[in-house]
Amino acid sequence: MIIEPRIVKLTTRTEVDVRRTIPHAKLRRIGAWVFVDHFGPTEQVDGMTVAAHPHTGLQTVTWLLDGLIDHRDSTGTAQNVTPGSLNLMTAGSGVSHSERSLPGPTSLHAVQLWIALPDAVRSMRPTFEHVETVPTATFGEHVAQVFIGEWGSATSPATVFSPLVGAEVSVGTRGSIPLNPAWEYGVLNIAGSMSANGDDVPPSALWYSSVGAGELALTGAGTAIVIGGEPFREPILMWWNFIARTHEEIEEMRMDWNLHTYPSFADRVGGWIPAPELPNVTLTPR
Ligand code: MN
Repeated sequence: MIIEPRIVKLTTRTEVDVRRTIPHAKLRRIGAWVFVDHFGPTEQVDGMTVAAHPHTGLQTVTWLLDGLIDHRDSTGTAQNVTPGSLNLMTAGSGVSHSERSLPGPTSLHAVQLWIALPDAVRSMRPTFEHVETVPTATFGEHVAQVFIGEWGSATSPATVFSPLVGAEVSVGTRGSIPLNPAWEYGVLNIAGSMSANGDDVPPSALWYSSVGAGELALTGAGTAIVIGGEPFREPILMWWNFIARTHEEIEEMRMDWNLHTYPSFADRVGGWIPAPELPNVTLTPR
């Protein structure tokens, strides 16, 4: 199955577009991966500035292909995000953050991915991890930078709470990649051309493989993000920047944010993004 991206605004306050593949009506998640945004490449004049906003119940993975981003959050983190380094924010019970691209590099190109936290840990204290150099695995002519989870001989030191993998893959002309048959996988075309098990994967589209496959025949010339994981069986409720389990929890999370109950931090963007109005229906977990 191929999921074509849809264009959405990065925030309601900017003109910056991102290309989102999941969640999608046909595919809500892959393992615990519940959100896939592809940004750029764009000139830095159209760079990214996102004012303070919250997250709950999830981990954010920011992975840069090009560019430089200043990340600040309410755990006290001030971290420059650079290509090839993993930045993982575990929101847990609630974290506030802002991000802005910095001058220097001429281009900004990134993915932002969300991982749902299992119920047992979703209210944990928020944390931030930076992994400067991630392990690599080679499969035929493909080279994978395994930024989170495990693949082949490579295991990222980043903390995960369900079995999964996320990797940037330099796609070569041939070579099959081992898959865990108990996991589902996605291949996002970041740049170049590629096919997965014979299916052409268009730019910014996501190719999906359900559980049961033991390998993936990948061919082309370009860059892919590969995500995978054990199917995440817990129903979750995603609304705005929050992941919860009930409508009442979402109401409470929304109110907590709009009433400024989060700790302040050394923000360099200024302002904050208020949570939107809730819809006039009771949200249900899926
Ligand atoms: Mn965010």
